[in-house]
Amino acid sequence: MPRPADEQTEAIIQKNWLDVSNQIAEACQVAGRNPAEVQVVGVAKYVDAALTAQLVQAGCKVIGENRPQLLWEKSEWFEQHQVTQPAWHLIGHLQRNKIRRSLPLVQMIQSVDSWRLAQEISQEAVRVGRIIDVLIDVNLTQDDSKTGILQGELLTHCDQIASLPNLRWRGLMAMSSLGANSPQASLEFAQVRELRDTLSERLKGSGVELSVLSMGMSGDFREAIAEGSTCVRIGSNLWTDVL
Ligand SMILES: *Cc1c(COP(=O)(O)O)cnc(C)c1O
Repeated sequence: MPRPADEQTEAIIQKNWLDVSNQIAEACQVAGRNPAEVQVVGVAKYVDAALTAQLVQAGCKVIGENRPQLLWEKSEWFEQHQVTQPAWHLIGHLQRNKIRRSLPLVQMIQSVDSWRLAQEISQEAVRVGRIIDVLIDVNLTQDDSKTGILQGELLTHCDQIASLPNLRWRGLMAMSSLGANSPQASLEFAQVRELRDTLSERLKGSGVELSVLSMGMSGDFREAIAEGSTCVRIGSNLWTDVL
């Protein structure tokens, strides 16, 4: 059970946020990169809305949730408690029947894991007249435990995805394979970057710019940043001594 959202917990969450921010800045320095190029998404799936609000209060402006339902509930809680909403990013599988309710709440869907889902998000975005930022979730290692579009399917559909109306395709999201050690994670992240470069080349002149590489979590953000990540999704490290 997570700790309740009391004052002591608030102090712990503030410290965790500072620690994580410093670790990321350090990883950027080691990689010779500007920390301003790397966005931190605080993954709040482990905690309730009150603790999520404390993380936002501590300075984390982008919150990632992997379950649409939990994102809806938290967004509603923020609304009811008149707490400023963070930018919500959906980072887990989106069932098609949950697109309609999720779309108005999220700034970005990082977890578009099939061509079909991309089409349906586009259709709904057209219907409600908004433009939605998305990443394509790629599964390069063909790991059964992971979601994500396989490289072949992505290459087959990349021109079509790029031309879907009201869908702003910003880049790729990926996870290293389960149990990967540090060199293996680095290798996999480099492959994601190379795939992004290949896609960018193919989409040259289409107006689509795949500038976002969302890769790196609590255990492998250093490797990801060294390989060019522009968005790290940090969960557990932000909830040390809270969970
Ligand atoms: C849970 C989760 C994370 C965060 O993982 P931690 O190891 O807790 O930092 C990142 N991305 C996705 C898609 C997740 O589901």
